[in-house]
Amino acid sequence: MATKAFKAESKKLLDMMIHSIYSQKEIFLREIISNASDAIDKIYYKALTDDSLNFEKDSYYIHITPDKDNRTLTVSDTGIGMTEEELENNLGTIAQSGSLTFKNDNEAKDGHDIIGQFGVGFYSSFMVADVVTVITKALGSDQAYKWESKGADGYSIEPCEKDTVGTDIILKLKENTEDENYDEFLEEYRLRSIIKKYSDFIRYPIKMEVTES
Ligand code: ADP
Ligand code: MG
Repeated sequence: MATKAFKAESKKLLDMMIHSIYSQKEIFLREIISNASDAIDKIYYKALTDDSLNFEKDSYYIHITPDKDNRTLTVSDTGIGMTEEELENNLGTIAQSGSLTFKNDNEAKDGHDIIGQFGVGFYSSFMVADVVTVITKALGSDQAYKWESKGADGYSIEPCEKDTVGTDIILKLKENTEDENYDEFLEEYRLRSIIKKYSDFIRYPIKMEVTES
């Protein structure tokens, strides 16, 4: 399958993320969760004006699944999902809206951590993952799509199977090095504390799926 190149600006940001020496790699989770929450908001607002859509709060949530055997961390949402075109436009290019913008609302109010207050967006997942896979099915669409990228070389998009509307972001965590440990992002207590620190105000339930191995 052909690999497409990222747009120039996206590639620059992506390179920054991949080679990040930034100590607070944990903020990737804030970014992924905030995107999941935005996606649920979109389905929520659609339901307000579309009578055929019934917004039941209980059926909208964010799932976090650490898998130690496969060294993956999956964040799933029941949000609006993305079409093939949206995958291309939203993840192949930096969204103008939020990437590298200052978060001045509820997030990280204590001025110590200036960098941590920037919204660095989806690409921050490359600080901790060397493969990022997005499986998504858009509201009103019969076909699901898989977007995958190993970083700066580009990304691929192909049709795939997914039963329900929403998005799964699967992060294949980097191997540990002498200086960096990524296993911590598979530990339930660590994940819970990151979520508490940065995503406490998210208005949809965040559920952790832990499998005992
Ligand atoms: P921002 O959130 O500031 O727009 P991001 O880099 O975080 O920038 O995300 C880029 C875009 O990718 C989002 O605007 C959204 O359109 C899309 N996106 C990312 N994650 C999801 C998701 N879980 N569900 C639906 N769309 C998503
Ligand atoms: Mg975002």
